[in-house]
Amino acid sequence: MIRRYRQTKIVATLGPASGNPDMMQKLFETGVDLFRMNFSHGSHEDHEKNLKTARALEVQYNRPVGIIADLQGPKLRVGKFKDGKIILTEGMVLRFDLDKALGDETRIPLPHPEVIEALGVGADILLDDGKVRVRVTEKGSDYLITQVIAGKALSNHKGFNVPGVILPLAALTEKDEIDMEAALDMGVDWIAQSFVQRAEDVIYAKKKINGRAALMAKIEKPSAVADIDEILEHVDGIMLARGDLGVEMPPEQVPTIQKQIVYKARKAGKPIIVATQMLESMIENATPTRAEASDVATAVFDGADAVMLSAETAVGQYPIEAVSMMNRICQTTEADAHYRRVMEANHPKTEENDPSDAITVAAVHVAKNIEAAVIVNYTTTGSTAIRTARQRPEGPILCLTQNKSTARRLMLSYGVRAIHVTDVKSFAETVEKAVSYVKEKGYAQKGDQIVLTAGVPFGVSGSTNVLRIANID
Ligand code: PGA
Ligand code: MN
Repeated sequence: MIRRYRQTKIVATLGPASGNPDMMQKLFETGVDLFRMNFSHGSHEDHEKNLKTARALEVQYNRPVGIIADLQGPKLRVGKFKDGKIILTEGMVLRFDLDKALGDETRIPLPHPEVIEALGVGADILLDDGKVRVRVTEKGSDYLITQVIAGKALSNHKGFNVPGVILPLAALTEKDEIDMEAALDMGVDWIAQSFVQRAEDVIYAKKKINGRAALMAKIEKPSAVADIDEILEHVDGIMLARGDLGVEMPPEQVPTIQKQIVYKARKAGKPIIVATQMLESMIENATPTRAEASDVATAVFDGADAVMLSAETAVGQYPIEAVSMMNRICQTTEADAHYRRVMEANHPKTEENDPSDAITVAAVHVAKNIEAAVIVNYTTTGSTAIRTARQRPEGPILCLTQNKSTARRLMLSYGVRAIHVTDVKSFAETVEKAVSYVKEKGYAQKGDQIVLTAGVPFGVSGSTNVLRIANID
C-alpha cells in the first residue's frame, strides 16, 4: 500500500535512466504520481512498454497512475557544419540559408523556409539555448544576413529560437500528429503540446484529440504568455516549461511570470505543472544545490499543482534520490504555517449562480472548520474534484469515480487521491464506500469526521448538490 503525505504532485520524465519496470516501480514507490513520456526521444515501442508498466503498477498498488505524452513541437534547429562546429566572434557576419550543403564560418544551413520568411531586419535570433545571439541585418527571399552579437561557438543541430516573433507554423508538426495518434492509441491520459504560440494552436489540438485524453499547453513562448487567458479557457492543464521559456524571455522575468500563471491556472481550475531544471544538479550529484531546493519550495508556495523532474529522472545518475528529495521538499514546505496562510489568502471566488461550485466551496470551509480528515467527492468528469482542488484545502481530497480515465487525469490535481469505483449505485453507497476506503488507507481513524459531496439524483454529471458530514467509527 502506498500513502502520500503531500498535496503537490510529482511528475517524473522517463528516459534511459528510468524507462524500465524496476526503476518505474521504485520511482512510483518513492513518490511519482505521473510519468512523462518525452516524444522528442525514444521509439513508440519504448513508450508503449513504459505505459504498460505503469498500468501494471496501478493494478499492483490499487492506485491510479497518470501518463503524459509530451510532443516535440516545432523545435527549430540549424543544420550541420563541415567541421562539426564553427567558432564565432562578435561582429562576425553569418548567412543563414536553405542550402543543405554543410555550413562553415560564413554560412549556416537553416532548413526552415517559413522562418526565414517570417523574420525581418532587426530581429534577434538565439542559438544553442541562448548561448549565441545574432541580429538580422539584411534579408532576401531565401536567406538572412546576420551579425553576431554574442557567442563563442556553434555546433551541429543546435536549437534556434526567435523570441517575440509569431511564426507561421502549424499547431502540430507532422511528427506531432503521428506521435499524438500513437499516444492516444496507447491510452495516455494527457497530451502536452509544445511551443504553443496562441489559443488557436490549442483549439486545433483539442479538436483533434476529441476527448480521448486531456490537453495541456506548454507555456514556453512569450506569445503564449501574452495569450494565457484565452489559452486557459481551452485547455485542461498547463505546463510552465521554463527551459525554453527562459531562453525566449529574460531570466529575470521568469519568476514573476511563474507566479502569475500559477495563480491564473489555479483560479481557472486547470492543473499547472512547474517544470524544468528544478533539481538540475542532481543529474550528476546525489544532493541538490540549496538554490534548487528553494526553487522547488517556491513552486509549492506559488500554489502549483505539480512539480516536474526532466533530465534528473530521464538520464540522470540519481533518479530515485531526485524524487525522494522533491518529495521531502514538498512535504516540508506544505507543513510550514506561512504556506497555509498563502494558500488561504488566495482562494478563488465562488462562481455566481453555480450550485456545484457553491457546495464544493462550502465543503472546503466545513472541512476546515470541523478539522475533517478528508474531503470526499463523488464525480464522473472530475469537475467537482477540480473545483475542490483549486481551493487548495489542507487535507486530502478523495475522489470516487466510475471513470478510470478521470481518476488518472486527476493525478495531476492538487491534493487529489482518486479511486475507480464500479460498485457504487447510490449516495448512501458512496458514503459507505468512502468510509471503508479512508479507514483502509489510513486517511481517517475512529472518531474522525469526513466531509462528502455528491449529486442527487445520483450519477448525473454537473449536479453536485449534497454536502454531508460522516463519522468514522
Ligand atoms: P522540453 O520542455 O523538455 O520538451 O523542452 C520543457 C521546457 O522547455 O522547459
Ligand atoms: Mn521545451
